[in-house]
Amino acid sequence: MSFVEPERYFSRISMIDIQKDIVDAGFSHVLLDIDNTILTRDTHEVPRDVSFWLSKARGAGLTFCLVSNNWHESVYELAGRLDLPIVAKAVKPLPPAFLLALKKIGAKRKDTVVIGDQLVTDVLGAHFLGMTAYMLQPLVEQDLKHTLLLRNVERAFMGDREPEGASCEISETTQTKTAN
Ligand SMILES: [Mg+2]
Repeated sequence: MSFVEPERYFSRISMIDIQKDIVDAGFSHVLLDIDNTILTRDTHEVPRDVSFWLSKARGAGLTFCLVSNNWHESVYELAGRLDLPIVAKAVKPLPPAFLLALKKIGAKRKDTVVIGDQLVTDVLGAHFLGMTAYMLQPLVEQDLKHTLLLRNVERAFMGDREPEGASCEISETTQTKTAN
C-alpha cells in the first residue's frame, strides 16, 4: 500500500463493518475526524446512520477520540453532545495532535485506526505515525475553499478507486425512490 493511499476507502462511516473491518482487523481505538466525516459541512448535522454507527461501535467496546483541525466552539459542543474526548485545532497531518489524542484515550498506535475524509490531513497524518487510515468520501460536496483545492490532490492519487459500500448506497437510494 502506498504511503499516500488509505488502507481502506469507504463511501461513508456506516459502511465500515465494526466487527470485521475494525475489531477483527486488530483495532480497539479510533481517532475520528469531524467535518464531513461525521458532521455535514452544509447543515452541520450528524446524519442518523452515522450516530447509530457511533453508538454501535462504542457498544462494541471501541474507544474514540475526535481529532479536528477545526478551531470553532461548535466542535467542542459536538464533542460534549457525543460525550467523546476531542483534540481540536489539530494542524493535521502533523503528528502532535494525533499523539495527544492517543494519550487521552490510552491507545497505542498499532491498536488504532484513523478515520477521516481527507487524504492530505487524515491519511497522511496517520501514515506519518505508522498508523492505519480508513478514508471516507466526504458526507457532502460543500467544504472550505482550501479543502476543495486539496481534493484535486486526492483525485490525483485516488484516481478512479471506488469506495467500498458505494454500490449499496446507490441501491438503497434506488429502493427509497421505488418505495416512494
Ligand atoms: Mg474532514
